[in-house]
Amino acid sequence: MTQYPHLLAPLDLGFTTLRNRTLMGSMHTGLEERKDWNAVAAFYAARAAGGVGLIVTGGMAPNSEGGVYPGAAGLFSDQDIANHRTVTDRVHAQGGKIAMQILHAGRYAYGPNCVAPSPIKSPISPFKPTELDAVGIEKQITDFATAAQRAKAAGYDGVEIMGSEGYLINQFLVAHTNKRSDAWGGSYKNRMRFAIEVVKRVRAAVGPEFILIYRLSMIDLIPNGSTWSEVVMLAKEVEAAGATILNTGIGWHEARVPTIATSVPRRAFSWVTQKIMGEVSIPVITSNRINMPDVAESVLAEGCADMVSMARPFLADPDFVVKAAAGTADEIAPCIACNQACLDHTFGGKLTSCLVNPRACHETELTYDPASEVKTIAVVGAGPAGLSAALTASARGHNVTLFDKSATLGGQLNLARQVPGKEEFHGLVAWYETMVARSSITVKLGTKAELQDLAMFDEVVVATGITPRDPQISGQDTHSNVVSYTKVLQGSVFVGAKVVVIGAGGIGFDLSEFLTTDTSPTLDLDAWKHEWGITDPQVDRGGLSLDGPQPEPPVRQVTMLQRKAEKPGKRLGKTTGWIHRATLQMKGVRMMGGVSYDEITPSGIWITKAEERQFIEADTIVMCAGQLPNRSLADELQSDGHRVHVIGGADVAAELDAKRAIDQGARLAAIL
Ligand code: FAD
Ligand code: NAP
Ligand code: SF4
Repeated sequence: MTQYPHLLAPLDLGFTTLRNRTLMGSMHTGLEERKDWNAVAAFYAARAAGGVGLIVTGGMAPNSEGGVYPGAAGLFSDQDIANHRTVTDRVHAQGGKIAMQILHAGRYAYGPNCVAPSPIKSPISPFKPTELDAVGIEKQITDFATAAQRAKAAGYDGVEIMGSEGYLINQFLVAHTNKRSDAWGGSYKNRMRFAIEVVKRVRAAVGPEFILIYRLSMIDLIPNGSTWSEVVMLAKEVEAAGATILNTGIGWHEARVPTIATSVPRRAFSWVTQKIMGEVSIPVITSNRINMPDVAESVLAEGCADMVSMARPFLADPDFVVKAAAGTADEIAPCIACNQACLDHTFGGKLTSCLVNPRACHETELTYDPASEVKTIAVVGAGPAGLSAALTASARGHNVTLFDKSATLGGQLNLARQVPGKEEFHGLVAWYETMVARSSITVKLGTKAELQDLAMFDEVVVATGITPRDPQISGQDTHSNVVSYTKVLQGSVFVGAKVVVIGAGGIGFDLSEFLTTDTSPTLDLDAWKHEWGITDPQVDRGGLSLDGPQPEPPVRQVTMLQRKAEKPGKRLGKTTGWIHRATLQMKGVRMMGGVSYDEITPSGIWITKAEERQFIEADTIVMCAGQLPNRSLADELQSDGHRVHVIGGADVAAELDAKRAIDQGARLAAIL
């Protein structure tokens, strides 16, 4: 008897059956644009082999003006059909099914040729779109239908029409972006016409026995977004026009409410999808922050949806479904919703990957083959770099011994997981514990590795991490009000009501969140919705509360300082930095750049800003001034003549994060 009876139940669509209720949601990988179709096929085939019910590809433009950026992937020619055929063949060979998403970016297209219902620039693009005339609208609809026809010719099992997230179809739907006065604007019936025509014409182009998913924005999270009655009206019309399945879209890209970041509670929006259940008779899919089989199962068991869309979890672990079915869900590498190697890469023009799984989108290039010569390998340090190296080397057949001076695995991940909104790091550490326990690695915790412990090994990997940088501010060593971030996060020091944080990097921001927050809103959906001003779209248009965000008051008064004159937090993650900045602003944290540190006193700190001396009162001053490599062991080994491999923070501390540490550990162990 499976633990996940709802999730693993087949879904009969009449003309075809999906093997379970998991949908791999659409993600842009960047592989298609590199024209490496073997790599594209390998990526999707791995997910099909891992048991996913239905895969949806990254968005494919129906024409050049609809691409997310000039040169974005699409299906424009017979040559493209042949390329896509290699993907569908490989997925089918693994028993999988795959639908192609047709995405027209409208005014979100990052190029001068972008088009939209009205010539209104979006806040997230520098390009003002050209207003479509009647001929232009007809062309867009035809191009959707042609793309669907080509998808069928390429062997896809269906298409998904991207009608949410603020892309072209969505832009027609709401008055915020549609100011037309012709048959395509004005009343909701007119604004809805484009979406319905696209669905009808796609259905006519592909015939009845082809999956047609429509992704419908159920909560826009923008001012003047759709009302709930409009959402329901659209859903019914989309069904009548020929859709097979209704998928949920949450929030436009320009929304100032987080929708998928790690601080968003798990299954935060399944209640929105649940509202549409019963309104239509086709299957409904829910989405957003569903990352583990138990979460997905609960969503389905509670009747929130017929199927669950997960996207990033299939980057983290292609074998998600087979592991859930085999009763080894605790071996599923968890997506921690960090966006660091997926969305941040996409928006940075880099190939998508995954922090916890560096092989994602690198399947053909990073392989873990059985070792040709079995070696004894010592890995010193069980932070993410050491864990990644030890697990990969062990999986390849080497005899690995893993040392850590502390009593637990995880290194700094144990600090990260104390931060409100970073609770997913608990799951990541638990996963490492499980995987290490089930491997043949010899674990020596509470053991500081010394030179003599390492002499007998064939290879030594030094992953000893970092030491916090000492900013050497006058007075810091003579007053007891100065503490390190490590002690604060470990809960081993008292922190007063007024705090100054020295340093505004990733850790300074996390620490300020830790110091100002009592109970994490990530663990309390109502509190989180309240904090960000999210409400039922049946109450306020678009699901944005007219009362605005209502955060809990801060539990401490925090001032965060940095020497650089730039905006604090400028270097945080591309897709998550704004959330951290907004959260601290809501908590009243004062952020000051361009300061120099003069002297710490028992009651605060003297600084200079713009040539003016100021005193900031503080009961506690927390040092968060960056990190330096902890290389002492590596240096000792090297000067004793040993060949060592140095990875993670021990190698380079600047701009270090768990993504780089894990990637470096895996890549080293893949070739040892
Ligand atoms: P570490 O994690 O520092 O591990 C080194 C290990 O080596 C430690 O366990 C230490 O005990 C051990 N060790 C040292 N010397 C010896 C010895 N001689 N013998 C035995 N053991 C030894 N990164 C992200 O990517 N995303 C985030 O959201 C994020 N948030 C963070 C939040 C906080 C509050 C902190 C502190 C860090 C965060 N990081 C985040 C950074 C990330 O945790 C680090 O970049 C990563 O842990 C570095 O990995 P590492 O393996 O190189 O070193
Ligand atoms: P950091 O991001 O490098 O920030 C260090 C801060 O200390 C900066 O604000 C810096 O600003 C200041 N600083 C540097 N030298 C100083 C000195 N001598 N005296 C006083 N201040 C000094 O490092 P971090 O915050 O310690 O984070 C460590 C690593 O963990 C980072 O690489 C980060 O990427 C990673 N991390 C990532 C996340 C994430 O969400 N992805 C979260 C937390 C941590 P000035 O030099 O301008 O003063
Ligand atoms: Fe999930 Fe982070 Fe991996 Fe993206 S990079 S898939 S958010 S764990």
